[in-house]
Amino acid sequence: MDLSVFSSMESEVRSYIRSFPTVFDTARGSILTDEDGRDYIDFFCGAGTLNYGHNNPLIKAPVVEYLMGDKIQHALDMATGAKRHFLEVFRDVILAPRGLEYKLQFPGPTGANAVEAAMKLARIKTGRSTIVAFTHGYHGLSLGALAATANSWFRDGAGVGLNDVVFHPFDGYYGPDIDTVAMLRKLVEDPSSGLDLPAAVIVETVQGEGGVNVARPEWLRALRALCDDHGIVLIVDDIQIGIGRSGDFFSFEQSGIVPDVVTLSKSLSGYGFPMSLVLIKPEFDVWKPAMHTGTFRGNSIAFVGAAAAIENYWADASFPASIAHRGDLVASRLAAIADRHAGAFTTRGRGLLQGLAGNDLGLAGRISKESFARGLIVETSGAHDEVLKVMPTLVGDDETLLKGLDIIDEATDAAIAAA
Ligand code: PMP
Repeated sequence: MDLSVFSSMESEVRSYIRSFPTVFDTARGSILTDEDGRDYIDFFCGAGTLNYGHNNPLIKAPVVEYLMGDKIQHALDMATGAKRHFLEVFRDVILAPRGLEYKLQFPGPTGANAVEAAMKLARIKTGRSTIVAFTHGYHGLSLGALAATANSWFRDGAGVGLNDVVFHPFDGYYGPDIDTVAMLRKLVEDPSSGLDLPAAVIVETVQGEGGVNVARPEWLRALRALCDDHGIVLIVDDIQIGIGRSGDFFSFEQSGIVPDVVTLSKSLSGYGFPMSLVLIKPEFDVWKPAMHTGTFRGNSIAFVGAAAAIENYWADASFPASIAHRGDLVASRLAAIADRHAGAFTTRGRGLLQGLAGNDLGLAGRISKESFARGLIVETSGAHDEVLKVMPTLVGDDETLLKGLDIIDEATDAAIAAA
């Protein structure tokens, strides 16, 4: 496959093309096909953007109808029928049944745009500047969001000081016996700890980029209580683990907490169209008109896709159980691989975000490479890219899922044999 135009013209910043060096052409469900007609099973899903699969026909049909009808596509944030329908569906199918009351803010279309808006809002609301983020957290790469992103690989690219965010150990950072929320409470409550009272805490309930680190429900509940006790805004960044990847629509449902602010993006539009959303408890919605604006906040086909995804999947009460079934297939297979190669791996994850963490830091990268050679796309994550991050589609047949897991199994043998 000739990739020379990409390497000669595109900046050195290009990334995934290096791990998956082919020219992709078509895609359907869990399968991508390259220009040579070679199929690849997708266990990456655009880092959680294609939870409903590629070109899902249930979402495509209304999108195509919308486009063919010359319905309005770009409207800044003026009122459109597409946005009205999305708002109503989101209220009726997602918020109301869960007893959630949020105002919706549509920032620019990327995840980082949502994080920027959430952090800004928390600072405006509290009049304070410090935000607590967690070790191994990832919230995007624009400067405000980057300040809350832990990995020095990204931070080193900032070129300016990344201020007003302090990092605190995530759940399990010092092992299972150390309660890092209790540590944070002590710092917040000690007037001589040196920690200024934070405006907000921003947290992923499962850290996707950071290595599939899972926060325990009781840890999240303790964090909620700490924020309540001190008027700290709790922001849950559900950009990667939200929209069903944890098994529920929101990843925090399992813990029973209700964040003050939630960021969503990636799979929200259902089709890979750029879209993001900030959910804000009404009493935290202190924005003044046009105080945070942007050109691309009304991507109509994204609204159409998002409404169709919610209506087709989340209106069906059995959807979470089918995600759980697929998640169990993945988790049990990864556990079997770890058992077979005793001492080489640990496993962790929730729902359909599962990780196989290699003790040899280069192993996950080699498995990803061997998997690609065998027709599977699967990425790595973690501080040293030491975790194979397995994130298949939420929908689809078991057969393809099992075939992808077989490939991981074979690729693991090959990667270990080659070491
Ligand atoms: N937050 C989380 C949890 C993410 O996983 C990501 C993307 N990987 C972002 C924020 C940033 O999203 P985007 O790349 O669309 O800016």
